[in-house]
Amino acid sequence: MSSLFLFSIISKYVYSCIFAPMNLEDIKTVKKLLSTPQKIVIVPHKNPDGDAIGSTVALWHYLKNIGQDATVVSPNDFPDFLKWIPGNESILNFEKENSQSKNKISEATLIFTLDFNHLSRIGQMQDYLNNVVAEFIMIDHHQAPADYAKITYSDVSMSSTCEMVYNFMEYLNDTDKITPEIATCIYTGIMTDTGSFKFKSTTSRTHRVIADLIDKGAQNTEIHHQIYDTNNSSRLKLLGIALNNMVILEDYNTAYITLTQEELNSCNYKKGDTEGFVNYGLTLKGIKFAVIFIENSEEGIIKISFRSVGDFSVNQFARNHFEGGGHDNAAGGKSDLTITETTERFTKLLENYKTDLI
Ligand code: 5GP
Ligand code: MN
Repeated sequence: MSSLFLFSIISKYVYSCIFAPMNLEDIKTVKKLLSTPQKIVIVPHKNPDGDAIGSTVALWHYLKNIGQDATVVSPNDFPDFLKWIPGNESILNFEKENSQSKNKISEATLIFTLDFNHLSRIGQMQDYLNNVVAEFIMIDHHQAPADYAKITYSDVSMSSTCEMVYNFMEYLNDTDKITPEIATCIYTGIMTDTGSFKFKSTTSRTHRVIADLIDKGAQNTEIHHQIYDTNNSSRLKLLGIALNNMVILEDYNTAYITLTQEELNSCNYKKGDTEGFVNYGLTLKGIKFAVIFIENSEEGIIKISFRSVGDFSVNQFARNHFEGGGHDNAAGGKSDLTITETTERFTKLLENYKTDLI
């Protein structure tokens, strides 16, 4: 066997592991499943963000429009800045509407899990999903998918799960069924997960999808306004505290922010208020690694967000040290220590990464 031939086989294998469009067999299976009436539940991850809500609600509209019985069940509440999304009022909150949610899950014949790839990402809901008879379909763009679904459409090269929902509809030859509501949901998730089309996961294809969504009725200016122009004075005050707390570790090209529960309380903290704060670290010239540590007294944890520019994989860092994961340049995790102990541990850990960060 020539080495060129061997190289071509290996590179095709590596390519298929990293970039994984849906295969024909899976598309056929999905078409068959959706050609008969199903009871469908669609699940985003806990603390859903724009991509998780956008993708689940977009899929919900589509499935309902093709005559399926579908419900989105979220593990918990989602931020106010998403509460304008068309269809958001139909989402069941597993924490608040517990018995209704459990009924839907136990009756389900098909469960879509979107924007996560491990059942540990849905908190308490995991116990219920572990014991259902329904088939699972996963659509997700995070690394290292777990093996729980009949159909796993996983592609880490994708900008967002929303872009994958667009692809999913394309695989089913149904992009003509994209209504203005669906276009709005998908646009929102692509926009929020790409930092408004600037992260390196944003491809020319992403922009083509976005162009088509605008043609199909997504009001781009209005969506940006709804998501980004919703500040109130307490959130801005909290941002002020966060920026004031920022610690810059020049030796490691790293900047981190802390927010204690007391500081959050002093600004009437609501879910979603700290969205985007972590990115301020990366706006500093030369900074490659930005982190925010947020105390959550109710859960007894420090919730952590990691961001990087360039080759430093925060997914690996979060996985190795903070029970988390995500993408190469955006990941999350948690710590059971106090906030001070956590930042001390974090700073010490950085010593092992000095060469990767300078
Ligand atoms: P964020 O920092 O905005 O909460 O999350 C950034 C990325 O990391 C998202 O893709 C999110 O799904 C993922 N992520 C956040 N927290 C966790 C976590 O605790 N575990 C894992 N595996 N991924 C997380
Ligand atoms: Mn996402």
